[in-house]
Amino acid sequence: MTTDYEIIDHTYDVVVVGAGGAGLRATFGMAEKGLKTACITKVFPTRSHTVAAQGGISAALGNMGEDDWRWHAYDTIKGSDWLGDQDAIEYMCREAIPAIIELEHYGVPFSRTEAGKIYQRPFGGMTTHFGEGTAQRTCAAADRTGHAILHTLYQQSLAHQAEFYIEYFALDLIMENGACRGVIALELATGKIHRFRAHLVVLATGGYGRAWFSCTSAHTCTGDGGGMVLRAGLPLQDMEFTQFHPTGVYGAGCLITEGVRGEGGYLTNSEGERFMERYAPNAKDLASRDVVSRSMTIEIREGRGVGPNKDHIHLHLEHLGPEVINQRLPGIAETARIFAGVDVTKAPIPVLPTVHYNMGGIPTNYRAEVVAPRDGDPDAVVPGLMAIGEAGCISVHGANRLGSNSLLDLVVFGRAAAIRAAEVVSELGSHRPLPADSADYALSRLDRLRHAEGEHSTASIRDAMQATMQEYSAVFRTAETLEQGSQKMHEIAGRLADVKVADRSLIWNTDLIETLELENLLGNAVVSMDSALNRQESRGAHAREDFSERDDEKWMKHTVSWLQADNAVQLDYRPVHMTTLSDEMEVIPPKKRVY
Ligand SMILES: Cc1cc2nc3c(=O)[nH]c(=O)nc-3n(C[C@H](O)[C@H](O)[C@H](O)COP(=O)(O)OP(=O)(O)OC[C@H]3O[C@@H](n4cnc5c(N)ncnc54)[C@H](O)[C@@H]3O)c2cc1C
Repeated sequence: MTTDYEIIDHTYDVVVVGAGGAGLRATFGMAEKGLKTACITKVFPTRSHTVAAQGGISAALGNMGEDDWRWHAYDTIKGSDWLGDQDAIEYMCREAIPAIIELEHYGVPFSRTEAGKIYQRPFGGMTTHFGEGTAQRTCAAADRTGHAILHTLYQQSLAHQAEFYIEYFALDLIMENGACRGVIALELATGKIHRFRAHLVVLATGGYGRAWFSCTSAHTCTGDGGGMVLRAGLPLQDMEFTQFHPTGVYGAGCLITEGVRGEGGYLTNSEGERFMERYAPNAKDLASRDVVSRSMTIEIREGRGVGPNKDHIHLHLEHLGPEVINQRLPGIAETARIFAGVDVTKAPIPVLPTVHYNMGGIPTNYRAEVVAPRDGDPDAVVPGLMAIGEAGCISVHGANRLGSNSLLDLVVFGRAAAIRAAEVVSELGSHRPLPADSADYALSRLDRLRHAEGEHSTASIRDAMQATMQEYSAVFRTAETLEQGSQKMHEIAGRLADVKVADRSLIWNTDLIETLELENLLGNAVVSMDSALNRQESRGAHAREDFSERDDEKWMKHTVSWLQADNAVQLDYRPVHMTTLSDEMEVIPPKKRVY
């Protein structure tokens, strides 16, 4: 069976899987430090989802009013609803300032103030003086910040000696005695198998938004890193926390950035009421995303939605005037025209909460090393493996990410991974031979799916998964809906054993690739649903109607979830890090939330 496949061997100090913002920042950082570095990516680097980020990247630069990184850290901890690790948050918010200056020097074309400084806009949950005032903290390149950053990072990568394997699909990790030794990848154009031996593998594979029917993320966001980790017998963390962005275009799901509300846009219901004033008297339309998404859902449920079916909400920016719109939000005007048929200078955009970001992912410490509870140590490092970006769970976002903190997470921890990799690799000697069976697991799985002759098409299983996640892993949850959702997801995941793949070739076999991606999505979806059923409290983006309060005594802890071969889910916990790295910041104890 496995002799069908030609295997080509490579050896590197580090292999980075993924060429989004996180993967690229890590890749050239490692190459810069003299490590022999490869970057594998299933799409061309500048097509990674990071390119679609609109609103901006946070840092307490104070270009447009006073600011302090400690206020940024406070907001991030509060936004995380006290599930974020405070050591990692301190690291991110402090390092944000040099990280943005570094991006500017690399060539990111940020928008400018009159004085020539980097332009910064207000974003939800970003305050001054520990919640007192509104901060202008989000650095923007118009409404195409991710595009600007990703292209700049790719140019930097080309300037260093990293080697790219473009349109290669990573299949599985090579594990030996609990340590990662490399990764197996399929070259999409030829069907050849590439075996990468490495001191370190860095997973930077992005999120798994495509497990839901309506999401803002690209079709490539299929949680491949999480799938590989689950199959390697390692856990994922905090998978119950899914961020719904309040303003996806009704029907299409495309994102309308929070920057629109940062620039003065606001939401109304069928009565023309600016209802956010009722739910969040202080922050109003700029309350954090979970609060706005829940408020919109309640308005619709109570019959105050707009449109013939009263099933969405209006977002207004007509009053901003064509000049501000053209200068600050040109991409939004285009998106609204194409996907909603709306001229934003004249009419509101129809919007609906849409899955946007996965707070959960592969657990790591603030050095980007993957951790998994072992022998009573909740923070035990998995040798040879790192994770960064949306695929990881550091955890700086905890139960809910603040807008503009993800792009920041990518560059700060991409860089941190490079710093740590240089230390780890310098302590290791030459490469040991891989075990004789190092490719067997990945190849037998590939071969089984490629020749699968079952009942169900890949598309039918994917449709069922997306509909189930949309309905049951939703903005509001109860034990009853989650139990039904869990039963359904287990049954749907089971159908993969009976999948049918029509194309048997190895050259650009999209049928096979979509099936491999589906297997990854299913793993992520099953542990997400079961983790949500298990957490009996409301925290951040996880809103249980049957347990409407946050319960710090019982639940201020990370959920870790393993997936067995029969799709059974095993759960455990890790403590939240309530410590800081220096005495420049104090631990922020949990407070009741006031909006
Ligand atoms: C529409 C939209 C707008 C956003 N706006 C903002 C914003 O304004 N500010 C902000 O802070 N955040 C924003 N976010 C969130 C943020 O952009 C993402 O969380 C972030 O870009 C993810 O980056 P990443 O590097 O982790 O992964 P991605 O950019 O998703 O890249 C993943 C990489 O992994 C590779 N890959 C995946 N699987 C495999 C495999 N099996 N084999 C090989 N390669 C693989 C892909 O080829 C790709 O290169 C936005 C998100 C969306 C969807």
